[in-house]
Amino acid sequence: MANKKTLSRNAAIGLVLVLLGVQIFTQCNKKNQQQTPSEQPTPGSNGASNATGTIHLEMGIPTGGDGEPAYLLKRKQYALSYNGTKNVPNWVSSNLNASYFGDTERKQGQFMPDPDLPPQFYKVRHQDYSNTGFDRGHMVRSEERTASREDNDATFYTTNLLPQYHDLNAGPWLRLEEFCQFLSVRKKKELYIICGGIFPKNYQTIGKRNNVAVPSHCFKIIVVLESGQKVNDVNENTTVLAAIMPNVEGIKSEQWRQYQTTVDEIEQRTGYDFLTAVPKKIQDAIESRKSTSLAMAQ
Ligand code: MN
Ligand code: MN
Repeated sequence: MANKKTLSRNAAIGLVLVLLGVQIFTQCNKKNQQQTPSEQPTPGSNGASNATGTIHLEMGIPTGGDGEPAYLLKRKQYALSYNGTKNVPNWVSSNLNASYFGDTERKQGQFMPDPDLPPQFYKVRHQDYSNTGFDRGHMVRSEERTASREDNDATFYTTNLLPQYHDLNAGPWLRLEEFCQFLSVRKKKELYIICGGIFPKNYQTIGKRNNVAVPSHCFKIIVVLESGQKVNDVNENTTVLAAIMPNVEGIKSEQWRQYQTTVDEIEQRTGYDFLTAVPKKIQDAIESRKSTSLAMAQ
């Protein structure tokens, strides 16, 4: 039944796929790129309906950045922008609610090179972090993907890592992660999280090829909505938590709230515009203030 109609339809589908590929490769450095939240699956169903990972970009693809080669990587468990010069993610974006938590045990063994990176990107290995003094700092936390073996394993790709000092990783960074777990599991909130690193001009590097960049700070943005809510539910009163924490030793006993800041501050220090799918007027409101109400809830 390969008539003219189906042939041209197949050609059209092929063209769309090629264009999609081109768009992914040129994601880096595009200004004002808007994410259309058209094919969003339902949040709360972290499984099969979210095979493409689009739910993790519900708040929009961040625009701007440092201009270095970047690759937009989407998978079922999270989405990220990978930096081909620094060999770390520029940002990692993820949806979180109670359904992502299960009883799958933490993956045993090594972190894995990411098979979904294109060949021109260096694939960071577990050993690049060995004996460097830095932790392999998860961006999407292992505990936040425990509904299935596959989900948890996906947090162990090295594209989901930043070099973090242990005192940050096991200190205020962990406490903010625990607060996210409290909000999603106990308070049944719908969270949209974006996190990553901030890099000075002369950043430190680690690794066998000395090509893995060490951030001076790590940032985290958390949009707090009610269960099942999406970007269209964000308004000027939406709780947005933001933090910038120094990647240093000696802060293990600090509280995360000490590092609370505004999204505006993170945007200024990273060069990214975040929450790009939120109307500009609402962005202006929620990005310029520190939400306090929920921060007191713990
Ligand atoms: Mn960690
Ligand atoms: Mn913004």
